[in-house]
Amino acid sequence: MATTKTLRCPSCNTPVLLNSEDTPFCSDRCRRVDLGKWASGEYKISSPILDPDLLEELEHAEQQRHPMHEEKSRYRN
Ligand SMILES: [Zn+2]
Repeated sequence: MATTKTLRCPSCNTPVLLNSEDTPFCSDRCRRVDLGKWASGEYKISSPILDPDLLEELEHAEQQRHPMHEEKSRYRN
């Protein structure tokens, strides 16, 4: 059974065929509407990771990787 992949128009939520000329929009009109939203700042561009908790977690992950290197160099001496 073949399934047709569809997207939903970000503008009006109408299912759009992937091979549509205006993908991901259902029509040129909706594409323009969406571009208009971007231009007017209605959509906010998401910022890169700035969550302090997440950054801390990443730092911990780094620290957990480093001790192994330190141990190896200690054995060498
Ligand atoms: Zn649409």
